[in-house]
Amino acid sequence: MDPILERYQALEDKVAAYTPNLDTKRLFDAFTYADTEHHGQLRKSGEPYIIHPLAVADIVADLGLDVDSVIAALLHDCIEDTDATHEEIAKKFGKSVAELVEGVTKLTRVQYVSKEEEQMENLRKMLMAMAHDIRVILIKICDRLHNMRTMEYQSPRKQREKSLETMEIYAPLAHRLGMQKLKWELEDLSLRYLDPVGYKEIEEEMSARSAAHEEFLASIQLRIQQRMEQEGIRCKVYGRVKHTYSIYRKMFAQNKTLDEIFDLYAFRVIVDDIPECYNVLGCIHDMFKPVLGRFKDYIGTPKPNMYQSLHTTVIGREGIPFEVQIRTWEMHQTAEYGIAAHWKYKQGMANKKLGSEVDFEWVRKLLESQQDTDAEEFVRTLKVDMFSDEVFVFTPNGDVKSLPAGATPIDFAYNIHSAVGNSMVGARVNGRMVPYDTHLKNGDIVEVLTSKAAKGPSRDWLKIAKSNEARNKIRQWFKRERREENIATGRALFESELKHAKIPLSSITAEDVLPSILRKVRFGTLDELYASIGYGGTTAVKSVARIKDELLRLGRLKAEKAAASSRTTAESVIVPGTAAPVDVSQLKGSNKHTDSGIIVEGLGNCLVKFAKCCTPVPGDPVIGFITRGYGVSVHRADCPNAAPENRKPEEAARWVRVSWVDSKLPNYRTALEVASKDRDNLTLDVAMALSAAKVKVSALSARSMPDGHAILRIEVEVRDKEELASVINKLNNIQGVYHVARMTGK
Ligand code: MN
Repeated sequence: MDPILERYQALEDKVAAYTPNLDTKRLFDAFTYADTEHHGQLRKSGEPYIIHPLAVADIVADLGLDVDSVIAALLHDCIEDTDATHEEIAKKFGKSVAELVEGVTKLTRVQYVSKEEEQMENLRKMLMAMAHDIRVILIKICDRLHNMRTMEYQSPRKQREKSLETMEIYAPLAHRLGMQKLKWELEDLSLRYLDPVGYKEIEEEMSARSAAHEEFLASIQLRIQQRMEQEGIRCKVYGRVKHTYSIYRKMFAQNKTLDEIFDLYAFRVIVDDIPECYNVLGCIHDMFKPVLGRFKDYIGTPKPNMYQSLHTTVIGREGIPFEVQIRTWEMHQTAEYGIAAHWKYKQGMANKKLGSEVDFEWVRKLLESQQDTDAEEFVRTLKVDMFSDEVFVFTPNGDVKSLPAGATPIDFAYNIHSAVGNSMVGARVNGRMVPYDTHLKNGDIVEVLTSKAAKGPSRDWLKIAKSNEARNKIRQWFKRERREENIATGRALFESELKHAKIPLSSITAEDVLPSILRKVRFGTLDELYASIGYGGTTAVKSVARIKDELLRLGRLKAEKAAASSRTTAESVIVPGTAAPVDVSQLKGSNKHTDSGIIVEGLGNCLVKFAKCCTPVPGDPVIGFITRGYGVSVHRADCPNAAPENRKPEEAARWVRVSWVDSKLPNYRTALEVASKDRDNLTLDVAMALSAAKVKVSALSARSMPDGHAILRIEVEVRDKEELASVINKLNNIQGVYHVARMTGK
């Protein structure tokens, strides 16, 4: 028989095996139709094109999906690559099949450009949202799987692109849908092209040891089997070596060699019901020594993707640890095929209770709705409306933006940046000019036209915009635009309230008082305070009450100071802006530290150290923190650890102003992070450049990232900010380097 017909026959047999009363003519018609449509087209391998849809349909049938899905898989490339149309397919094979094919085609057309993690998440969601029907995603994943299996015929560039996409989009999707088997295969195939060297290394080492592995697997399997027989538990036991990508990830994350990887082996014990799972667990823990903290009960608390099993890691007599997963047959189906297992195991799963922490709400809904419905109804409930409150659109650069459903170009513009929204003069969707109240659809490419001469948002926009983000930004614009007006109103309210409190304006505008008054009300200038009162951000009454408190405190302070100066030893200072005294006796008298180049306000020279998190150098704006016992720790003003929102309220008094003075220290140590393309001799070139510039390097480490990049951490010693800037400049000029940053935080 013709080899292609033979393949078709195998497919038909497979589908017939799980489909009662299969309409074989309809299936055969679909095959013939696809074969005719693709006639004359070849795959990169040189084979006739029809091999691909046949293979995809075969994977779909492996998942046990319904006949419509199998037919749609046969036709999945027809709309995109042949003359076939939606209408024709609908007429020949029904509306449902046509919609599935259309759905897969739409997903095929989505272009992936962006590579940021956050973007990937949005892309995954966008695909789900665009699919409408979960079967579309399943067919698309099967399509991708076959393309990855035959990737060797593609150009290296295409191999990398598709593998990256598979690793970032399709493998995670398969994971979410609970399809472990497909996910593993997708990951391993992608890894082969993303890191051919790493992949080969693991594959080769693993196959060199395969005899030893087989022996170990067989001996443990036998021991478990024998014990189960003794206990009278009917079960299937098998062992495997974990998949390549999971080993790769462990080696990478833990920076270990293959020999040092903790658990390479996994065993499965599959039993008939849940009580037996726990019986088996008891036996396993009796036979082998369990590793503490590695037991997980995903039966009591299933994973969000419906996965259920008991996991434990134990150590055998040989001292080799291995994982054992214990589950029922139903759980096994779900673990291997995920959501697709519903077609296979509908009855069993319907009775399962899922944990409350299911974040895939729709899966739960699906299972509930499934309980008393027939098969056809079940398929209808598979309409995916999980992201119905979100819409995903592209920027012209291919970034994906997530907006609330019903969002308009105005929401899009403000989502990009308030400056974009404020200067918007028009919008294009998919290349066409549209009115501002157009509702955006999934997959739309949206472009905002801006102009410097734009007059800013109109009040109507507040009604058109769907997102709070856009509305807030529009309101902010009005707030700012009306600033003069606000200041005038605010000032009048403020002065009248001041009069009411019997405080003369001159008593707060005095040079030595105003800064602490402003700090107290948390504004940079009086105008800012007035403006805020003007638009209702704060009230005159509240501000004046605070100012009154502050004036009283300043008065007290003056009195105390006068008293203190008459004594000879003052053991505490009061830091301006707070009332809490801080013990500073520890800070004094350590003269050897006075040449740090730092003066602490109110304390002069004292014990100073430079914060390790941000390593300031002379010239950086800085701020000090009075530590408990180690003097004043100096941070850069822009260090996250010193950011006002990260300061503990009870430590407010410990933050003090510090400044640089002429320093006697020759050098300051500071840390840099360099991001670069990974290449040979990168570290060497960096070291050479620094040594040529006569910069003292106290530490240098490089780390390769999986995507062909490298991160270098460098500690250098410099005189001041200026010299540091020139070091950064030199680093920036090294070939491959694309970013040099000072380290801050943590
Ligand atoms: Mn395809």
